[in-house]
Parts: sequence; structure tokens; C-alpha cells
Amino acid sequence: MLRLTEVKLPLDHPEEAIKAAILKKLHLAPDDLIGYSIFKRSYDARKKDDITLVYILDVETTQDKRLLQRCKKDPHVMVTPDLRYRPVAQAPSQLPSRPIVIGMGPCGMFAGLLLAQMGFRPIILERGKRVRDRTADTFAFWRKRDELNLESNVQFGEGGAGTFSDGKLYSQVRDPKHYGRKVLEELVNAGASPEILYVNKPHIGTFKLVGIVQSIRARIEALGGEIRFQSRVEDIQIENGRVQGVILDSGEQMDSQHVILAVGHSARDTFEMLFDRGVYIEAKPFSIGFRVEHPQTLIDRCRFGDYAGHRLLGAADYKLVHHCQNGRSVYSFCMCPGGLVVAAASEPGRVVTNGMSQYSRNERNANSAIVVGITPDDYPGHALAGMALQRQLESRAFELGGGTYEAPGQLVGDFLADRPSTALGSVKPSYEPGVRLGDLSQSLPDYAIAAIREALPAFDKQINGFAMNDAVLTGVETRTSSPIRIKRRDDYQSLNTAGLYPAGEGAGYAGGILSAGIDGIKVAEAVALSILQTVPQPV
Ligand SMILES: Cc1cc2nc3c(=O)[nH]c(=O)nc-3n(C[C@H](O)[C@H](O)[C@H](O)COP(=O)(O)OP(=O)(O)OC[C@H]3O[C@@H](n4cnc5c(N)ncnc54)[C@H](O)[C@@H]3O)c2cc1C
Repeated sequence: MLRLTEVKLPLDHPEEAIKAAILKKLHLAPDDLIGYSIFKRSYDARKKDDITLVYILDVETTQDKRLLQRCKKDPHVMVTPDLRYRPVAQAPSQLPSRPIVIGMGPCGMFAGLLLAQMGFRPIILERGKRVRDRTADTFAFWRKRDELNLESNVQFGEGGAGTFSDGKLYSQVRDPKHYGRKVLEELVNAGASPEILYVNKPHIGTFKLVGIVQSIRARIEALGGEIRFQSRVEDIQIENGRVQGVILDSGEQMDSQHVILAVGHSARDTFEMLFDRGVYIEAKPFSIGFRVEHPQTLIDRCRFGDYAGHRLLGAADYKLVHHCQNGRSVYSFCMCPGGLVVAAASEPGRVVTNGMSQYSRNERNANSAIVVGITPDDYPGHALAGMALQRQLESRAFELGGGTYEAPGQLVGDFLADRPSTALGSVKPSYEPGVRLGDLSQSLPDYAIAAIREALPAFDKQINGFAMNDAVLTGVETRTSSPIRIKRRDDYQSLNTAGLYPAGEGAGYAGGILSAGIDGIKVAEAVALSILQTVPQPV
């Protein structure tokens, strides 16, 4: 199999054009081409009047060897790499003990799936509910039919934080072993569209994710794994620097010397418990800011010109960054084309925003977080000080929103002019339970407000209209990533607690669905190999 990269074709090319491009590139006769498949498809929209599709193609010919020899100086022709995943271990028939996975977000789910596939029959403990029940609780809170459920919300429950999301599936983590491919393939096996394997920036969308999560749960169970919902790990037993088991909120004690900690960035009570038990934790940087909403048509027009709305391009996204005079950087984060701003609180009396989309991305607004990077220098002194700052900002947002879980909001024009907003303009905010207009300058530290005020007009130079008067800011965005890192050694075990495997976003080792899944695979492998070492070998 040969791989051809940088194969460029016009946006509206007919299907046969791909075959023609292969024949031309390789100087092949039609009979010599056995078949081809698309490995990746992206677009180049730098010239809005000439948007092109860019393919990576895997090609089978009758003369692969000869072509490779002939094209050996061409960087765009190579042997197709083998990306198949090969398990590192197989459990013995007599398992010495079953590993425990805390958390059924993408990290815990993939750790659990991999362990189950290798025969290690993991037990997954999840504080929240099954995804369908969790969806009902979350929507009831958003629509003001019910109070915030502290164990069943956007952060907690089957599928983890990424379930009510845009389901973007790309990441910039180094992935030399191609674990990301394994994650995508398992998502397709569980019902995701096969296009996620080849489009450049794949996404799944909220409702589809729900079905996929259920299907992965069924596969883990079919392979001998066990998933226990409404089972919050409240304590961890450590003896002589080695984990011995966990204690649930019900008081039940479960023994295991292999515990994967995949609790996500919002398990603040769990972080406090781990800190009290002496597990090594340090503060890490994260970002704070607001969600901004614009008409999606404005973004599409600016990015795609006359091609706006083209079926292969979909709703346009953007990625923006501005380095400010005060030394801060402001950037767009978790952009959700054609999506909704969502209430992502998991603690009482606190308001925090995030964004999600359906697969169709056809809501009227584009949203993204506009955030300022902050570091432990901004919250010195204690490993959990970043978490305390998040809590303080979220409580302030709750107050500014009127104490009913409505979020404080302001029009961009008013925010830039430093005057409170009193009425909406053309952009209707999507956040439920609702937005209370006012003055957002009270909601974040002064340095962050100054940085965002400087960045918005700079972003307007890249996307004409970004600083439009009527665009709506909704506050606050504080959970861009974990405020802590639970440091681990090269063998993925905690720096000072053997048998504890901190993983995923909460431990500071992932920043999204894909990277959390990849990290889940890494720790599952480490746990499997460690368990095998405890099995007596035949003499
Ligand atoms: C609204 C929203 C939209 C997002 N959109 C995207 C996106 O489009 N693309 C993307 O890549 N990322 C997105 N993210 C981020 C992404 O969801 C996270 O990076 C990812 O889910 C992290 O995975 P994780 O498994 O490490 O943690 P989580 O997904 O947070 O999962 C942790 C799980 O552990 C459980 N848990 C916590 N404490 C305990 C305990 N003590 N006992 C038992 N269980 C416990 C929680 O209930 C939770 O289910 C979004 C996040 C949110 C909130």
C-alpha cells in the first residue's frame, strides 16, 4: 500500500477526479490501480475564492515496489504506515486482582475498555448516573424544571464532561503509537460515523455521543468488566506508600492495588481528599474568561466567502490568539460552530459556562471561550489554590447572575466601552437557564478584563465583526483545564503512591476527549503490565 499526501482538488470536484489525480501523480495506467481509500480530508480556505480540498490517500497498485523506487525522492509518496493497535498484554486465566477505574469519562471509559479487551475485568466506579438519566437531570436543570443535581450534571455521570459537548475529536498531543486512531476506531465501532476517521477536524455532537457511550459500556460489560453508577469514591486507602483500595460514599470498601484515577477536572472534593491523604499534587496553569456568541453566518462568511454553507465545509470554526501588552495571552478555546452555551456547574451557588453542539451544528450562534492564560504565580501558596480561585470566580458569577443560576452577560460593545448592558441587540444568547445583563468587569481579575478588552478588537482584524456591538459575552469560563497536576512517574504511577495511576484531564494529562482517551489507553497498558508482574511465572 502506498500513501500519497497533499493531493489537492477543487471543492466541488467529481468523485472520479480522485482516481484521475492518483493516475496522474503516479503516471499509472488505469488497470494498474487496484483501489484507494481516503485517509484524511481537509480543506485549504486561505484563498476564499479558491477553496481546495486536500487529501491523504492510501493507494493499492500492481506495482507498489517499482513506484516506491521511482518516487523515493518525493516526500508525498511513501509506504502506508501500519496503525493497527496491538494489545501489550493478555490477562492470565487466574486474575490475581481486578483493577479499579474511578470515573467513566473518556479517560476512564477507554482505560476500562482496553483493560476489558485484554481480559483484566476492570471495575469502573462512577459517581453519576447512566447517561440517559443524567441527560434528563441536566436538561431539567437547564430548563429550570429542577435544582442543580450535584452528582448528575454536565460534569458528572456516564461519559464524563465530554458528553454534552461539540464532541470535537482532535488534539495536539504527541501520539507516536497512534493511540488516537484506536480511540477513533472504537468510537466508530460504537456507532460514530466512519467519517471521523478521515475528516481533518472530526466531531460527533451531543446526542450521538449519548448512544456511543451506552454502546461502549455494553462492550466493557460483555468482556467481563463491571460498571457501578452512583458510586462516588470518597476515600482511598494507602499503606506504606501503596494504594490498597477505595471506600465508596455508601461506606463499602473495595480492595485493589491497581487504581486508575480518571476523575476529571471538576472532582474538587476528590482532589481535597487526595491532598489530605498525602498524594503528591501541584498547582498548574489554566485559563479564565467568558463565552462569546456571534451569528454563525458572520463566521461562515468571513472564513468561506461565497462558499459559506457548502456541505463539505459545514459551519466554520476559528482559532484566535492575541499577546497583550500586560504580558498575558488571550485565545479562543473550545469553539463550537452552530452550537449552544451551556450551564456547566457542579457545585451549589456557582455559575460556570462551556459550549456544545449537535452533529448538524445548525444552531444560529457560533460560540467559543475567550480566555486568558493564568499560572500558579497568580494563585501562589497552596497546591489547591487554583481550585479556590475557580470557586471564588464561579461564586461571583452566581451573584452577578442574580443567584438563580442565570449567568451574567454583557454585549461586546458595552464591555469595550466599560458600561453595563441593559438590553440585548441582534444576537440572542443561547445559555439556559438564562442570561442576566450587567457589567462583567466585576467578574474576573482586572488583568484578565484588561487583556480581553485589548484582544477583542485585535480579533476583529482577523474576523471582521468579531467585536460587533451586539455579540454577547457570558461569564464565567473557569474550567478550561485542571487547576492541578497529580504528578506521576514514567510508569504512570503517582509520584509517591504506588498503584495509583492519575490519568486524564483531572490529573493534568489531557485537555479534551481524544487526549483523555489516549491517556486512558496508556494507563490501561501500564496497569496490565504491572498486574502481570505480580503473577507467579511457571518454573
Ligand atoms: C460542556 C463541555 C464541552 C466540551 N467540549 C469538548 C469538545 O468538543 N471536544 C473535546 O475534546 N473536549 C471537550 N470538552 C472537554 C472534555 O469533555 C474533557 O477534556 C474530557 O471529558 C476529560 O475526560 P476525563 O475522562 O479525563 O474526565 P471527565 O470527562 O471529567 O470524567 C471524569 C468522570 O469521573 C467521575 N468522577 C469524578 N469524581 C469521582 C469520584 N470521586 N468517584 C467516582 N467517579 C468520579 C465524574 O462523574 C466523571 O464522569 C468539553 C467539556 C465540557 C464540560
